[in-house]
Parts: sequence; structure tokens; C-alpha cells
Amino acid sequence: MATSLKTTLLYLLSLLLILPVLAQDEQKDTYILITQVQVWDAKGKDLVKSDILIKNNLIEAFGKNLKAPEGATIINGKNGTVTPGLIDMHTHIMLNGPKAFYTGQGDYGPFAIGAWAYQDMNLLLDQGFTSIRDIAGNSLGMAKAVQNDLMRGPRIWSSGPAFSSTGGHGDAGVWNQLPNENNQPNMTMNLATADGVDEVIKMARWNYRHGAAFAKIMASGGVASEFDPLEITEYTYDEMRAIVKISEDNRTYATIHAYHDSAINRAIDAGVKCVEHGFLMSEQTVKRMADENIVLSLQGYVSTVQFAEASQIPWFSPEQVRKATQVYEGAKQMIEWAKKYQVFIVSGSDMFAENTPNAKMNITVEKEFGWEPWEILQHNTLNAGKVLAMSGPARNPYREGPLGVIEVGAYADILIWEKSPLEDIDNVLPNDNIQVLIKDGEILKNTLED
Ligand SMILES: [Zn+2]
Repeated sequence: MATSLKTTLLYLLSLLLILPVLAQDEQKDTYILITQVQVWDAKGKDLVKSDILIKNNLIEAFGKNLKAPEGATIINGKNGTVTPGLIDMHTHIMLNGPKAFYTGQGDYGPFAIGAWAYQDMNLLLDQGFTSIRDIAGNSLGMAKAVQNDLMRGPRIWSSGPAFSSTGGHGDAGVWNQLPNENNQPNMTMNLATADGVDEVIKMARWNYRHGAAFAKIMASGGVASEFDPLEITEYTYDEMRAIVKISEDNRTYATIHAYHDSAINRAIDAGVKCVEHGFLMSEQTVKRMADENIVLSLQGYVSTVQFAEASQIPWFSPEQVRKATQVYEGAKQMIEWAKKYQVFIVSGSDMFAENTPNAKMNITVEKEFGWEPWEILQHNTLNAGKVLAMSGPARNPYREGPLGVIEVGAYADILIWEKSPLEDIDNVLPNDNIQVLIKDGEILKNTLED
């Protein structure tokens, strides 16, 4: 008996000694050392020759002649150019399929919409967008699945369904609809209408309950929607203020879809911090945005290239073509003023559905407005990362470090380009110019190996 007790005790003791070793082994740190590259850290125009050491999902060290810890994966960058992963600040992954904005109006169910969204997420990731801000659409579940590592795709900051008044830019219902009748897009919560302070508060709380990172408000008429000329203002001050207040209580912010002065000024008065589009603003309102540090989210390609030939967009009605032409006529002037007053700018493609594969054309188009490649890239990296962080400690799904920048402690979202986009911004376009794509410290693509 005594011997068997002793044996049992020795066995238990040996288990106690081994267990921590096993546990440690399971959580072993992983390292990647990148060498032989020119690094653009996104903070200025210069490139530096430097190594980068990644530990797990963050940048551990950044400097010359870094030592590789044992077991590290070593990537010889063969003189390629490193930039942070790109960030698209205005996507709509849930507005997809053949009818884009109107998908979900009865032809397809939420399952098909989700499958299309997954495809679009990966089309964006393969273009080098390691993060997206999805800004109207019920991508809340997709965002959560990516965050929990259950689905391949870019990091997603989702607004959830945008706030739209009845007849506003997010009302994709049929014309022949009764006042309290719900419609298909609303039932998927892809686009939703809410009227009055009580309803918008309820919807804001629903969005934040499901993990929304910020709020998106449809504040003026829009091009893709059917019932709202561009000139109209769609929410009262009290309604906008109520959405902003719930967002502030969640330590985050609200942004608006808007084109003209009255919607934009009312929204800024109500505490909104970011404006999408804004192409029909006056010089005075552009200056106000600069003075009050309001962010401008720019869609250069859609407004100045696609809307130049709006009749070619397959699902646009004659009225939508007319509105698109209005935007096209205002866009270049507004962008000139935004440059003049140095408004804080981020880029968001707004190129959804059939345009998703071409989202990077929203980056290259900015050279037409007179920006240098490094400034354009900042709109899609450093500046974008700062706006993503505006979701605050409570609602930012990624709080371990900054994004859109190469520095110690930042997330390891890294691209190595064969031809440098800092020399010629058009080098961002071919996906095969991206030789290495790392997201969250994981190598998703590496063509340098062979
Ligand atoms: Zn949009």
C-alpha cells in the first residue's frame, strides 16, 4: 500500500512539473523577421532601410540589424518596399449581388447576401486592404466572426445598418409600401429606417448591442436611393443629436452621409465628427470642417470617374443618373478647397458589388487632385488608422495597438511591394505587385519564397 501511494504521489508530482511546460509550449510566441527592405512607416515621405521583427500579432522591434529569435520565420524582402496594410474607410460588403443597393428587396435571402459579402471581404483583403470601415449594412456578424478568427477577411469596423429617415438615403423599400410596413432590406437590417428621437435611440442601442464601432447617419439626399433628391436634409437636429448622444455615451462617434451645407452644418452642430462625400459643400463649410477638426472621407473615383458616365451603371435609373452628374460637377472644386484648408482626409472607395475588385482605383485617382504618392497613401493608412481609433476604448474592436503605421507596438499588418507605390502610386494596382501580405502577424501570402 505504502509503495503504491508513493508511486501515485510521484506520478502526480511529475504531472505538476510537466503541465506548465506543456501549457507554455501551446502558447509559444511566434516571430517573423523581415530583412532587406525599404520601409515606409506612414509618418512622412521618407523610406528607411530597416528590419522589422514581429512577435505574435504586433511589431516588436523596428531598426537595423535585428536578431532573429530561435524558430523565427525569416523573410528576405529582396529590396521590396514595406507599407502598412491598406485601409478602406468606406465599404458596403453587405450591399452586393446583382442589385447592389437593392439586394435583399425580395430576390435573395440573407444567406446569399452573407456569402457574397464573404467573397467581397476576400477580394478586398487580396488587394492589400487588411482593414475596412463598413459603413451601412448589417456586417456586424461578419465583423465579429473575423475578430474571433472564425472567418478569413480584413478587420472590420462596422456601423451596422445606417440611420435613415423614411424616404431617406437608407430607405430601399418599394414605392408601394404602407407607413408601418417593413420591407426586405429592413428585415435583414442591412438598411433601416427610424423616425423620431425615440426610434433612433432604440436603433442606436440595437446597433451598439451588436458591436457597432460607430454610427452612420444618412443626413442628406443620396445618389443610389430612389426617394430623395440630393438637396434635401433628412434628419432634424434633435434626431441627429440623439444618435450622437448615444454614440458619445458609447465613447465613440457618428459620421454622416451628406452632400450639401445645410445637412453638414446641422450635423456638425449636433456633434458629428466625420463627413462622407461632402461634394456639394461651399468653401465656407469646407473651412469650418478644417477649423473644427472634422474628418472628410473622400470617394474620389466614384465621384469624378464613375459619375462622369453614370448612365453606364447598370442598376441606375434616369433620376439616379441625374443626381450622380450633380455630384460629378461639384466634386473637383470641393476637393480643391479641402486641399487648400488642409482638411483631415481619409479615403474610402464606396466601390461595392461589381466594383469591389477595383477598389484600389479610389487610391490612384487621387494623383489627379495633385497629391504626392506618400500623401495619398497616408489617406489610406496613417490617417485612416487614427479615425478607426476614434471608436474609442469601448467600441474599437482592435485595441492592442495602432493600425496604419509601422512602429513598435503597432498591429503587424504589413505589405511588401516589389515596385514601390511611393515612386508611382499606380504600383498599388496590380495585386501581384504585393509579394508579402501579413495580417495580424499571420503570413497570408508570400511569393518571395521560391
Ligand atoms: Zn456609401
